[in-house]
Amino acid sequence: MNAVDTAVKLLQAKKIRPSLTRIHILAYLLSHPIHPTVDQIYQALLPQIPTLSKTTVYNTLDLLLENKLVKLVGVEQREKHYDANTKDHGHFFCRICEKIYDFSTPAAEIEAPEIKGFQIEVKNVSYSGVCSDCRHKNKHKEDEYEKFEGN
Ligand SMILES: [Zn+2]
Ligand SMILES: [Zn+2]
Repeated sequence: MNAVDTAVKLLQAKKIRPSLTRIHILAYLLSHPIHPTVDQIYQALLPQIPTLSKTTVYNTLDLLLENKLVKLVGVEQREKHYDANTKDHGHFFCRICEKIYDFSTPAAEIEAPEIKGFQIEVKNVSYSGVCSDCRHKNKHKEDEYEKFEGN
């Protein structure tokens, strides 16, 4: 099933009228697991929906959030990042390239005695640091530097 069909099904299951904008936004999130911001979603969809406004994107995302069709990525950043993968998973934020990576996590099984008896509504596992791509790039730089120093 393609992202558009999936989006229509998900919206209908929540009894949300599948308007063109809603379908496009949800389908974009489903097919682009890059945790985009409002601005990124807006820029990506503007060529397809020239009448789109940022307010519409905001409002649509709020509606999708309320219905748990998307969730916010729990990484401390200036802008909100949205995720259509609503299963429990962790996020790794690279401070160099600012990409957000998904990783599987047994978060569903984490039971901390400190919060025993609490009603958990959102689970976020987030790590940050330097991703392997950026580490490799940096390593090359360091190697070159060492070579230079050796002369
Ligand atoms: Zn990186
Ligand atoms: Zn994610």
